[in-house]
Amino acid sequence: MKIETPTLRLNSFAEMNLEPALMRALQKMSISKPTAIQSEAIPNSLNGTDVIAIAQTGSGKTLAYALSILTTLAKKEAARALVLAPSREMAQQIYKVFLELCAEMPVSACLVIGGSTGSKQINQLKKNPRLIIATPGRMNDHLMTNKLLLQNVEVIVIDEADRMLDMGFAPQLKTIQNTLRGARQTLMFSASFGKNVESIAQLFMNHKVMMIRSAQAEAPVAALKQKVLLLDRTMKNDRLLDELNAARGGVIVFTGNQENCEALGQYLKDYGYETDLIHGGLSQGQRNRVMREFREGEIRVLVATDLIARGLDVPHVDNVVNFDLPFQAEDFLHRIGRTARAGRSGQAITFVTPSDTRMYKKIQMYLKGAEEIKVDPQFEFIDRSRKFRFEKKEAGTGKQTSSKQGSKSASKGKSGSGKSGFAKKKRQ
Ligand code: AMP
Repeated sequence: MKIETPTLRLNSFAEMNLEPALMRALQKMSISKPTAIQSEAIPNSLNGTDVIAIAQTGSGKTLAYALSILTTLAKKEAARALVLAPSREMAQQIYKVFLELCAEMPVSACLVIGGSTGSKQINQLKKNPRLIIATPGRMNDHLMTNKLLLQNVEVIVIDEADRMLDMGFAPQLKTIQNTLRGARQTLMFSASFGKNVESIAQLFMNHKVMMIRSAQAEAPVAALKQKVLLLDRTMKNDRLLDELNAARGGVIVFTGNQENCEALGQYLKDYGYETDLIHGGLSQGQRNRVMREFREGEIRVLVATDLIARGLDVPHVDNVVNFDLPFQAEDFLHRIGRTARAGRSGQAITFVTPSDTRMYKKIQMYLKGAEEIKVDPQFEFIDRSRKFRFEKKEAGTGKQTSSKQGSKSASKGKSGSGKSGFAKKKRQ
């Protein structure tokens, strides 16, 4: 696989030779100028090359591939396209964008996700829809149980590739790849490009690949104001109420696991907030209802797990609260990317407790310029490093000490998270 930097960049949709129906749809959506990623990804993918785009959250990546795919489908009568997204919510969101774009185009589309009736999806798939938007798990199930082959799929999109691999979808992606027949183009979107993303790219992609890397791909957007609150765990609930009372607009409060999500959701309901919660333990029907009500503004405060940390696009989210820190540093970047999208401003508030030493160090790179407030005047990080525990044992003292410097060795230690009680709790 030869990775090249793109030479094509077009700064207006009019120059891109898009299908006229798409130009009209863009106008209806009040979208007039391509974003940075669109100005490179659209012309390069319309040229037929494989594309890897390392795209900033909220950079307009859905339209970047949707406009290109629909133009290709309009030009090639027999061609079909498959879009893979990591979660049901994302797949539904992408499906909606496609439906809006191709309102005036005769393109049959099908949504293939878990949690809804399989038989209806099989019937739709058997009719060979031109466009399939799917999660890899459910797509793979259909392919295996119904022995379907993905014929004439000439374009495949792997959206949030890094997330998909984190979620353990590599085997499903490999099966899907095996069922594809004929030449095709692959467009891969990912917030980061590590070894595992590269190996999936190798599997799907042709010899020549264009890599588009938006300059700020791995950093929060400038319009995002960040605040870090250093406080004791016992102060978190009260402080959250203060922050919610001060906040304007929609809020997503991220918690660390399903249990905390339930408890905090209930706490806020008891205080009379227009709130609800979402996590992977709810039925698909419940998840859909909560997301619909949140999108429509009936729910102002949504308490969530990292299930919705990525890709979710709800314009009126003006605030993100990291009530618990995530288990992976990249999820932090995705969480705060739910606000300050598409040129809007937004605020992210992050609660940090003394035992968050290790993760706090890891997310520092995403907190540049953040205002740090010591809510608890006594606040000090607890050093949980192996070295520290060892030294304590050696000294034979039970006295608890804490230090900020010690967190350096904490980040090196490998013990911890995997064996902690948290590991047993359902995170998403
Ligand atoms: P995405 O990164 O695909 O989740 O898109 C984030 C948001 O940006 C969505 O609400 C889009 O409707 C919006 N958007 C996408 N492209 C443009 C554009 N060229 N101009 C203005 N808004 C856009």
